Amino acid sequence: MDLIIRNASLLDRQGIWDVGIQGDRIAAVEQHISEQGTEEFDAVGRLVAPTYVNGHTHLDKCNLGDVMRPNETYSFQECLAITWEHKRTYTVDDIVERASRAIREGILNGTTVFRVFADVDTIGGLRPLEGIIALREKWRDVVPIEAVDFPQEAILRDPGTAELMEEGMRMGADVVGGLPWHERLDEDMRAHVDFCFDLAKKYDKDIHMLADDTLNPNSRSLEYLAARTIAEGFQGRVSASHCEAIAAYDEYHAHKVMDLVQEAGVSISSNTHISLALSGRLHLEPIPRGITRAKQMWQKGVNLFTSQDDVNDPYYPFGRNDQQEVAAYLCHTAFMTFPDEIRAVFDFITYNAARAMRLEDYGCAPGCRADLNVLAAPTIQHVLRLQQPPALVLRGGKALARNELRQELLQDA
Ligand SMILES: [Zn+2]
Repeated sequence: MDLIIRNASLLDRQGIWDVGIQGDRIAAVEQHISEQGTEEFDAVGRLVAPTYVNGHTHLDKCNLGDVMRPNETYSFQECLAITWEHKRTYTVDDIVERASRAIREGILNGTTVFRVFADVDTIGGLRPLEGIIALREKWRDVVPIEAVDFPQEAILRDPGTAELMEEGMRMGADVVGGLPWHERLDEDMRAHVDFCFDLAKKYDKDIHMLADDTLNPNSRSLEYLAARTIAEGFQGRVSASHCEAIAAYDEYHAHKVMDLVQEAGVSISSNTHISLALSGRLHLEPIPRGITRAKQMWQKGVNLFTSQDDVNDPYYPFGRNDQQEVAAYLCHTAFMTFPDEIRAVFDFITYNAARAMRLEDYGCAPGCRADLNVLAAPTIQHVLRLQQPPALVLRGGKALARNELRQELLQDA
């Protein structure tokens, strides 16, 4: 075998295991592989798990935090306005350079798949999407990147965007994006969703929308998206991100919508830390957490995942493109801190995110692609507690990154 990872802990298995890799595939998972590998890596008992999947990130605007003016009104509206100032003058090279920095951070932190939203609107035109498609091609031999044709300024309230989105699909976008909750009227919200389904059917692509990214209990785009998903036979091909409004619905209506989402097979990306930073700013104390009903949806069997979303941009000053950090935020904000819950949250950044993106051959069994992290600790609890980068990151059996953490305690007792 080309590579044998020795002495690994594995998810949901007792004991210590060897993982053998041949070419780009996992060839064997056994308690002891007797043959010698061409290369060997000693995991020394640390957890080996499939690499992280980031199913929602905006790399056209990432790292603008280093060059933008400060947000003087501390408002979401000014986040948009600051982005407009830069979006008008983006170049493809500028986007690829800033986004590549975030991709490198992501790989070092164990993520090997990225779904990247690119703004498509009448301010920046198709330039952001051109940049993200150029990014996808630049990284093609290293990690897969999907480009989302995303109407950041909505569709009906920004006349001309519908035509640009159609052109974006012709240019080679991989996913149809949407932002229906940002339309002015409910009927426009529904027309927005309908338009996206028409586009997705025409180009045979999946859909990923930002739904109800607000604590306004009257925002009902997730419900309509789920109903349309069933009507169009798109079960398993649609994702929705944020979905905070459902936290503000009364219990009867919230359960109706969660059941509908489950029936529609719509995957939900919580991006909890972003909701925590941005939603609920209009509330007086006590301020709600402002995140979607992540735990209840998980308990109902909804395919829940969570993603980095923003990295050092007008919306969010932090973000290391680190899915471990993202998962740890979800544990806190969704009250998922007990063993089975922590186990579930680890799925939110691995298996569930892979299912939302319909990745093939994802996993840690023989026959799966050898996309594996040798993590920094032996259990999920300690991986998320320490949030240290993986010792080794593999994609298709090829080493993409190594991390060595050197810490020295100079006084002890
Ligand atoms: Zn986002």
